[in-house]
Amino acid sequence: MAGPDIGSGILAEGLPVAVIGAGPCGLAAAAALEQAAIPAVVFDRGCLVSSIADYPVYMTFFSTAEKIAIADIPFTIAHDKPTRRDALAYYRRVVEHLALDVHQYEPVERVWAKRGEFVVHSRPRGGDVVETRCRAVVIATGYFGSPNALGVPGEDLPHVTHFYREGHEAFQREAIVVGGGNSAAEAALDLWRHGARVTLVHFGPGFDKNIKPWVLPDLQNRIKDGSIAVRWNTRVTAIESGRVHLEGADGPGILPAQHVYLMTGFTPSSQLLTSLGVEVDAASGVPAHDPATMETNVGSVFIAGVLASGYDANKVFIENGRGHGTLIATRLREGWAGKA
Ligand SMILES: Cc1cc2nc3c(=O)[nH]c(=O)nc-3n(C[C@H](O)[C@H](O)[C@H](O)COP(=O)(O)OP(=O)(O)OC[C@H]3O[C@@H](n4cnc5c(N)ncnc54)[C@H](O)[C@@H]3O)c2cc1C
Repeated sequence: MAGPDIGSGILAEGLPVAVIGAGPCGLAAAAALEQAAIPAVVFDRGCLVSSIADYPVYMTFFSTAEKIAIADIPFTIAHDKPTRRDALAYYRRVVEHLALDVHQYEPVERVWAKRGEFVVHSRPRGGDVVETRCRAVVIATGYFGSPNALGVPGEDLPHVTHFYREGHEAFQREAIVVGGGNSAAEAALDLWRHGARVTLVHFGPGFDKNIKPWVLPDLQNRIKDGSIAVRWNTRVTAIESGRVHLEGADGPGILPAQHVYLMTGFTPSSQLLTSLGVEVDAASGVPAHDPATMETNVGSVFIAGVLASGYDANKVFIENGRGHGTLIATRLREGWAGKA
């Protein structure tokens, strides 16, 4: 299913480019388009930069501010690394400064090509479907499409979450952290620092390779001195209101659990992409695209941000995803100029 090739954008002259996802990379794309005098309209199913809003409350970035700044708008802070709060303020400021047209709490349900243009179906919260005609589409829907479920009974109980916010709620209570990656490591440490009784459960024999180097020694010391318990080679088989059932190397077991944090990662959604005819590699989850322009195998359909890295969110992040917008704006400008 071929989308309108860039040339046909001429026919839809005056229509905006739709950017789906107001994360840092979607915003960078909208800013690059506006700075290239190409109107853009941005849709987000949640608030502005909602993935950052969903970070742990007191999270500090591993990047320095200038590495996650976008649209050549300085991100100035007085301290070393930006906090989650700094970043939220900064991206709000970028939207205000550039007067970007951002539709928050308006999920895009469907996009399709029609006679040299695209139609975007979005639904403002509590409202009816809105149809937006546009001349090209940038899909920047990120990585946090859907949490990787354990698929065990009790996973939807109220004391179970895939999002870690802060540890205060678990002070002097039994907290189970499931996972072996960065989020699990940082959640376990933060919970311990908030006075929770923490046990980390992971199906592997140890932590994932990509644990941030400054996190691991701290955590290993806590495990060594017994202040954080750990169950390697162990899976959670069921969750009940006050305990979890485990299956590990030494057989079945039960642990008290008043709070359960499932730090099991996320899978990006490719529904919008495949519905437009974009090919997505089954093994890597990477959408077919030209890295020089971020255009997919469907004309005038582009991707931006972490979505371009498929199942491995460590490949593309803000630092190296924020430049995708400029490639897209250049491709569109040149494409339209070539056809005018
Ligand atoms: C704890 C933590 C710390 C991190 N620290 C850093 C760091 O220091 N430096 C760094 O570079 N990166 C860091 N990252 C990674 C960074 O957050 C991501 O790489 C970045 O958010 C990717 O940006 P994005 O715009 O591609 O996607 P996202 O930020 O995920 O944005 C995608 C947006 O699309 C929206 N969306 C999804 N589906 C739809 C739909 N159908 N309709 C409308 N909207 C939709 C979502 O609501 C979301 O707002 C960190 C990540 C985590 C979890």
